[in-house]
Amino acid sequence: MNKKKTRFLSVFVMLALVLAMAFPSSLLAKAPDRSGDKVAYGEEGMVATAHPAASKIGADVLKKGGTAMDAAIAIQFALNVAEPMMSGIGGGGFMMVYDAEADDVSIIDSRERAPAGATPDMFLDEDGNVIPFSERHISGDAVGVPGTLKGLMTAHDKWGTKPFSQLINPAIKLAHSGVEVNSVLAAAIADNQDKLARSAAEDVFMPGGEPLQEGDLLVQRDLAHTFKQIRKDGLDAFYGGEIGQALADTVQDFGGSMTSEDLENYQISIDEPVTGTYRGYEIASMSPPSSGGLTILQMLKMLEGFDLSSYDVKSPEKYHLLAEAMHLAYADRNTYIGDTQFIDVPMEGMLNEEYLAERRSLIERWEANDEVEPGNPWAYQEGTPQGAAEQPDDREIGETTHFTVADKWGNLVSYTTTIEQVFGTGIMVPEYGFMLNNELTDFDAVPGGPNQVEPNKRPMSSMSPTLVFKDGEPFMTVGSPGGPTIITSVMQTIINVIDYDMGLQDAIEEPRIYSSSYPEILWEEGIPESTRATMEDWGHEWRSTSRDLGNVQAIRIMEDGSFIGAADSTREGIAIGLDRTAGK
Ligand code: GLU
Repeated sequence: MNKKKTRFLSVFVMLALVLAMAFPSSLLAKAPDRSGDKVAYGEEGMVATAHPAASKIGADVLKKGGTAMDAAIAIQFALNVAEPMMSGIGGGGFMMVYDAEADDVSIIDSRERAPAGATPDMFLDEDGNVIPFSERHISGDAVGVPGTLKGLMTAHDKWGTKPFSQLINPAIKLAHSGVEVNSVLAAAIADNQDKLARSAAEDVFMPGGEPLQEGDLLVQRDLAHTFKQIRKDGLDAFYGGEIGQALADTVQDFGGSMTSEDLENYQISIDEPVTGTYRGYEIASMSPPSSGGLTILQMLKMLEGFDLSSYDVKSPEKYHLLAEAMHLAYADRNTYIGDTQFIDVPMEGMLNEEYLAERRSLIERWEANDEVEPGNPWAYQEGTPQGAAEQPDDREIGETTHFTVADKWGNLVSYTTTIEQVFGTGIMVPEYGFMLNNELTDFDAVPGGPNQVEPNKRPMSSMSPTLVFKDGEPFMTVGSPGGPTIITSVMQTIINVIDYDMGLQDAIEEPRIYSSSYPEILWEEGIPESTRATMEDWGHEWRSTSRDLGNVQAIRIMEDGSFIGAADSTREGIAIGLDRTAGK
């Protein structure tokens, strides 16, 4: 061994001893090296996303000393390239941020807004009938003014430490050199050929009319070029610039009203989360225009009145209580929630303990309630009630993406980001290489309620990036895609950890259900036949076949400050943990 190596080793040993004295328990128990897996352990940071390339890019940013926000920005651009059907600069989202130094949670809300030319009846035909979802979600009218880029830039100004160019560069490289099409993307292309064939997306995802297959290389030169323009000119390239103009022209080509001015006028908002407690844990989740936080907290509060863990995690009793709480909470959600910049949402009433006790008393042991109506939270607070309008039940469940990051300073990001349906409207901005969202179909198609279309308004969402705290300290981040099923996937992951004391990966893999109204329950494989039969005796109905619900990414923050991260097996995502020597 040469001298240099010996000196290096002794310095290393000394360093290890110093660290061992400072952090005794964490160093003695050597963590398993599980990087590259669905679950990972990290002492100095954690990344969990739905795509391995994005997780690796995020972990690299952390290794180079970036913050959780630096990594999150790099991940979003990488996902735009590697998971182009799920999110990107043509969409919007909700990012929840825990700033460790300030001990504060805030939200960057980059939800899409309706353009100035939008009207409450724009999803009705000349006869006043609702245009079917299959048609309305692929029209120019469905495209909301995208917020993702402005959200990222705002977050970078507030919490970023690395130059913006360093965070967008890995995505530019990935778009240029190509990313291997995985099974999720291949299936998405195969399922959406008609939608993609109507726009520039055809050349990218179905060159020569042939859908790209798993294992093929997806090269996105136009997207790389767009990212370079953004790297050079920043926000101005998009909001009021050349990219925004091309975007607005494309929307108009597909019958929408969006103008470059709509982009120039687009505003994000920085919001406070809705908060509540569950069995002594504090929960911070998404506030309106997302329905996620209120609905999660309502369900949890109703369930708090039952000794859930006295029933087996796969028992009919547990699933019955969950389904009943879902029906009650979704009845309120569909009646009262909308964009609070436009309407009054009875948030206080909806979370009032007495009100929720009253709602809880409607849950029978053991019979399904077939007459669930919305409650009256307005009885528990001041304000002006506004009625809802009956809606057709024709929306398809969206499927986008959620990721989460933790850094060595304890900062956390939990970010659900979307273009709504898989590939959004299916419209790509020609020569700019990114997909346009169909977020405005999250508005009610029938006007009259709190979630009707109005210019500049944000459609109600279900996205629920959530942070859980214990004794004031961060305990867990969690979130999922899946349209309205997001809310129940997040709630069930929390229950599996808190009530059933499950490890993070098991909590994510435990089969979930979704049921927004009596009687049908959507379900994941693994729920025993006997459980389903018993619940049928109690009045529930199960969808004939199982399906995946959501794609949860989550981080557990351990008492010693280390992290466990986990990615849902429904996609090819991975968690990557950083150990103490990373980047040194
Ligand atoms: N458009 C959906 C919402 O805002 C999101 C779809 C998804 O993330 O899966 O609720």
